[in-house]
Amino acid sequence: FLKIDGIQKSFGKDGRREQVLKDISVDVREGEFISLLGPSGCGKSTLLNIVAGLNRPDSGILQLDGRDIVKPGKERGMVFQQAALFPWLTVEENVMFPLKGMPKKEAKEVAKKYLRLVQLSQYAGHHPHELSGGMQQRVSIARALAMDPAVLLMDEPFGALDEQTRMRLQGVLEEIWIETKKTIIFVTHSIQEAVRLSDRIIVMGTHPGRVLQDIEVTLGRPREGHLKEMAAYEE
Ligand code: ATP
Ligand code: MG
Repeated sequence: FLKIDGIQKSFGKDGRREQVLKDISVDVREGEFISLLGPSGCGKSTLLNIVAGLNRPDSGILQLDGRDIVKPGKERGMVFQQAALFPWLTVEENVMFPLKGMPKKEAKEVAKKYLRLVQLSQYAGHHPHELSGGMQQRVSIARALAMDPAVLLMDEPFGALDEQTRMRLQGVLEEIWIETKKTIIFVTHSIQEAVRLSDRIIVMGTHPGRVLQDIEVTLGRPREGHLKEMAAYEE
């Protein structure tokens, strides 16, 4: 479905060039919820940005259903740690924003559908500053889903939220995943979050950033030995 194969990336120049991603290969199956877990600086964001098409790899293959996808496209939606909504637009207009070109009435229907999914129907007419951080993040998830992307990419989407809000949003995301059957790649620092949400966890290591483990999660728990090794990466 989504083929990430042999991705390499270095930053810096000449003598101070550092390899940030070394030979990253992951075969993502359709409908899979994958978490990327690993210490700060191991290249999770770099990898996600490459998959999003926001950054070019030095080498490697990135394909969706056999087609090369090097540039950003509407088949991939991205959610960042900060919601980054347009403050002058209403919640509904923010969600409709990626749907330029679609007849307005239709776009409104799409926005309605995804605002319901993130449980914010009553806030359609509000402006972002009237919403809490967690609610703003739900709007940005709705906005990313509005284009109906094949893959939803999320870079520590709940990282800036308090624990209670974070748990609530995990529940919302779980429901979204069940309802939309989206393929999701989710970056997090939290083992608990990864274990709760994903059916597969990729553990990355640093210097250079690489895949250390590729773990299938069954019934919300990875095998015990794996969890111990993963614990070493929790800060
Ligand atoms: P965190 O958990 O803190 O978000 P991360 O795993 O997402 O970390 P990245 O942000 O991908 O890590 O960064 C990996 C490495 O690449 C870091 O050493 C970082 O300094 C370096 N790096 C990332 N982007 C650039 C860039 N545009 N130019 C130079 N170096 C960069
Ligand atoms: Mg990061």
